[in-house]
Amino acid sequence: MGYIVESLRLLAGGAPRKPEKHHRHDAVNERYAEKRKTRLTKAALEAARDEHKSTCCNKWQRRRWATLIAVNLLFVVSYYFDVQLLEGALTASRFVGFHMADLNSALQVMLAFKHVVLNLIIGTVTVFVLWLLLGGRTFCSWVCPYHLVAEWAEYLHLWLAKKKIVKDHTFNRKVRILFYVLFVLLALVTGYTVFETISPTGILSRALIYGPGVALIWVALLLAFEIFYSRRAWCRYVCPIGVTYGVVGLFSPVRVKYNMENCHHEGDCRKVCMVPHVLDVTIRGRALQVDSDLASDCTRCGLCVDVCPTDSLNFVVKGIGKHL
Ligand code: SF4
Ligand code: SF4
Repeated sequence: MGYIVESLRLLAGGAPRKPEKHHRHDAVNERYAEKRKTRLTKAALEAARDEHKSTCCNKWQRRRWATLIAVNLLFVVSYYFDVQLLEGALTASRFVGFHMADLNSALQVMLAFKHVVLNLIIGTVTVFVLWLLLGGRTFCSWVCPYHLVAEWAEYLHLWLAKKKIVKDHTFNRKVRILFYVLFVLLALVTGYTVFETISPTGILSRALIYGPGVALIWVALLLAFEIFYSRRAWCRYVCPIGVTYGVVGLFSPVRVKYNMENCHHEGDCRKVCMVPHVLDVTIRGRALQVDSDLASDCTRCGLCVDVCPTDSLNFVVKGIGKHL
């Protein structure tokens, strides 16, 4: 229950908690005390980071990029060769005859047309169960085509920021809920799926399958905003798809688990994460238990798992108990 409440609070834009010593488990307090006595020097931290870099192969990032490209290519191949394997686009599709409907698109359609058709319900339930099993926001980082191009644009932003050419401007994360409500109301009032028109996920998916259109200018503008003004702004502060799948992820068995035992607390994981608030638990003094599941806003992208020099972050499937 605590996981669900805390995840919902973070999804809604709440700040991560800073627990008092007496709230933390005894084993956690003991481990923090031991670490204080053997605090690593800056040079030792740098050495650990370098050693990890020399062996790290970005395993999860490579797997994720390959999966994302393969899923999106499957749509393209099915369309071009008319093989009826994965028909439609990411918003609504049929996988070997099974109806699939993106949860947020389905909500928009139902609100706009005030009418629920059976295929839409079947598609929505299928997709809900799928992402419940696979990790909720796994959709964002493992399937959404905008996530991939925004990730590449983010590298450019970080390079420009390092050269002090651009600066990252952050916003209050609560604005994401305001956008969610706004898109719901717009669909309800206008009878038109307004969000679908401007969603870079749908635009890119359709452009890949049916060919480029003028809507790609909007996607380019979004990317330019993220490169020159605010890092990953669309996914962090606007996209309602992320919120929807974040809620699905509350109940998903696929999570990233943090173990505080050997953590150096230097924060390399938070630097690479699109939703760093879920990693605040890695800050010294923040963990309540030795093992903590990261909140459901985590996209399960695996970047933190790849970058962590102490193997303190790992994918787990609840109930199986083993690291993936
Ligand atoms: S969990 Fe984060 S802070 Fe801790 S060692 Fe790994 S990368 Fe560093
Ligand atoms: S916590 Fe890790 S797996 Fe989750 S979104 Fe951040 S970097 Fe990705």
